[in-house]
Amino acid sequence: MKQLVSEERKKELVEIRRYIHQYPEIEFQEIKTAQLVMEHLERLGYPYENKIAKTGVVSLIDSGKPGKTVLVRADMDALPIHEENDCEYRSKHNGIMHACGHDGHTSILMAYASELKTNFASMIPKGRVLLVFQPAEEGGGGAQIMVQKGILEKYKVDVAFALHVWNHIDIGKVGIVNGPIWASVDQFKITVHGKSGHGALPQHSVDPILVSAHIITALQSIVSRSIDPLEPCVITVGSINSGNAFNAIPDNAVMRGTVRTYSKEVHNSFPKRMEKIVEGISESFGAKAEVDYLKIDKPTINNPNCADFVRQAVRNLIGEDAITEKDVRSMGGEDFSAFLEKVPGCYFLIGSRNPFKNCVYPHHHSKFDFDEDALPIGLEVMKETVRLYLEQN
Ligand SMILES: [Zn+2]
Ligand SMILES: [Zn+2]
Repeated sequence: MKQLVSEERKKELVEIRRYIHQYPEIEFQEIKTAQLVMEHLERLGYPYENKIAKTGVVSLIDSGKPGKTVLVRADMDALPIHEENDCEYRSKHNGIMHACGHDGHTSILMAYASELKTNFASMIPKGRVLLVFQPAEEGGGGAQIMVQKGILEKYKVDVAFALHVWNHIDIGKVGIVNGPIWASVDQFKITVHGKSGHGALPQHSVDPILVSAHIITALQSIVSRSIDPLEPCVITVGSINSGNAFNAIPDNAVMRGTVRTYSKEVHNSFPKRMEKIVEGISESFGAKAEVDYLKIDKPTINNPNCADFVRQAVRNLIGEDAITEKDVRSMGGEDFSAFLEKVPGCYFLIGSRNPFKNCVYPHHHSKFDFDEDALPIGLEVMKETVRLYLEQN
């Protein structure tokens, strides 16, 4: 692979990433990270707007020539995980860690701004670029709030791109797919109300644990029997709580879980099907139950034309062999879907797995670390994608 960025830029990418890594901040508390971004933009002389969705920062960079507006997003938030790595840039905030690589994303977008200072005309031949430093990707819905605050309309965004360093893909590869890349993310809570009593005299009780067991089994039948087998869908009951004593039937049982799918139809129809099953089973056992169903993220769906710009960028920079579809799609979720629901775009993955550097742990693991050689690749692929799009639109 040819040298992608200057040594100076590579050093900057790593320095920023390691600094942010040491001072991680969780959702909507990215105050110092946002401050770092703002100081960087100020030094470069770029205007910005801050405090969007609490800690979000956006910066519009205009070529002065008419053209389209491209949004490029980096997420800034860390996770409530205690870091177990022993590296020199280990988290200094106990119990908080950049265990997903968002430190790398912020560093890439900051370095993108630095690159603009030296290569402005070649990077933005016409039109405008909106740099979006977003808070709270990890379940806080930062993207939804930024969209609700109207940044897409205000800055007349035509298209949106985002990347993620990805430890399930080898360093040097870039994961790009058309259509869905991430699933929708829904959360549910089912409460079953029974009637407590002695464990040896069940005839006087309504056992919410037995009802829950039937509900859990039947919920899986939504996936296997109510949904088109060609539509991916997952339901997981991840938590069940009820009772304290071995010899008593408790009053209530509470189950929590998640539903994931790529399909809008499935996403829309699932809650009703769940309610019917929960109500029907509970009634048949003489219990009562309620379902609280919360839709968090829509599926993240790539526009094929936009994905083509990313593919072309990778071909120009690294070569066709670097493009992969293997291990790209998953039933994980992303709030970038909030942008892609409104404008076309593409979300792609920069391979960052490297067993020789011990960068093998999955995202959200307390020993997660990614190969920092992914940073210049991410920066260059994003630069080239934006350039190609602006040049050809
Ligand atoms: Zn994550
Ligand atoms: Zn992430």
